[in-house]
Amino acid sequence: MAVTMADFRTSEKSWWCPGCGDFGVLAALQKALVELGIEPEKVAVVSGIGCSGKIGNYINSYNLHTVHGRALAAAQGLKLANRELTVIAAGGDGDGFAIGMGHYMHALRRNVDITYIVMDNMIYGLTKGQTSPTSEHGFQTKSTPAGNVERTVNQLQLAIASGCGFVANGFSANQKQLVEIIKRAIQHPGFALVNTYSPCVTFNKQNTFDFFKQHLTNLDEDPTYDRHDRFAAMKKLMETEELVTGIVYEDPNSVRYEDRVAGYPAEGIVNRDWSVDP
Ligand code: SF4
Ligand code: MG
Repeated sequence: MAVTMADFRTSEKSWWCPGCGDFGVLAALQKALVELGIEPEKVAVVSGIGCSGKIGNYINSYNLHTVHGRALAAAQGLKLANRELTVIAAGGDGDGFAIGMGHYMHALRRNVDITYIVMDNMIYGLTKGQTSPTSEHGFQTKSTPAGNVERTVNQLQLAIASGCGFVANGFSANQKQLVEIIKRAIQHPGFALVNTYSPCVTFNKQNTFDFFKQHLTNLDEDPTYDRHDRFAAMKKLMETEELVTGIVYEDPNSVRYEDRVAGYPAEGIVNRDWSVDP
């Protein structure tokens, strides 16, 4: 029997504030799994710490709620141990791009076949509103009362520079696009980044749903944009003053870590020609 949305729901009462962007991300993930026909027992959601980290409680699948910044480490290990599973790592901008940044960089270049969904609200929500790595320059919070003097992490540029083969940006209020992005990310052979603007309605009064609606440029609606061109993708991210959504980069020749390992010659790897993929 075909899976339905009901198969992916749990009876857990939501802890999220009414109107939180994370509801839209949860719904899009559930819908993407339904549309791909993946059964709940074939899915593992591995999350970090933060409001977003609670997503695993609200989706009927295997769920591993890890420690702060370590979701990617656990998710990669889980995938390598059981390659039949569809592994979704999930977390927020603070979890992923501050304490978790070391794991992020190495997951990008390693290319294990998992999907990483980031609920990016440009603030720390769980700890009641401090400046995060993706907060805008000048952003005022209780941790930066005079305004954020640091530069903002650009996780999409980092992903492309580090060799990530699938880089996308979604918006939790654009369900149609986000469902398609997540489906494509799950199907991509290798590490897939789905950064998602997911507003914190309680603590971030600057980067609201209306803010994103006004500032987002949808690359999926631009017929001249070539998502397979890595240089064009980086140029687009560097030159645009607007925030983009859509699939920014997709490598049609991605080779998963799992397949590289499987291609190791029996005699060892010392003399291997690393310019050639197995
Ligand atoms: Fe969502 Fe912000 Fe509430 Fe956390 S504090 S649940 S991020 S609205
Ligand atoms: Mg956050």
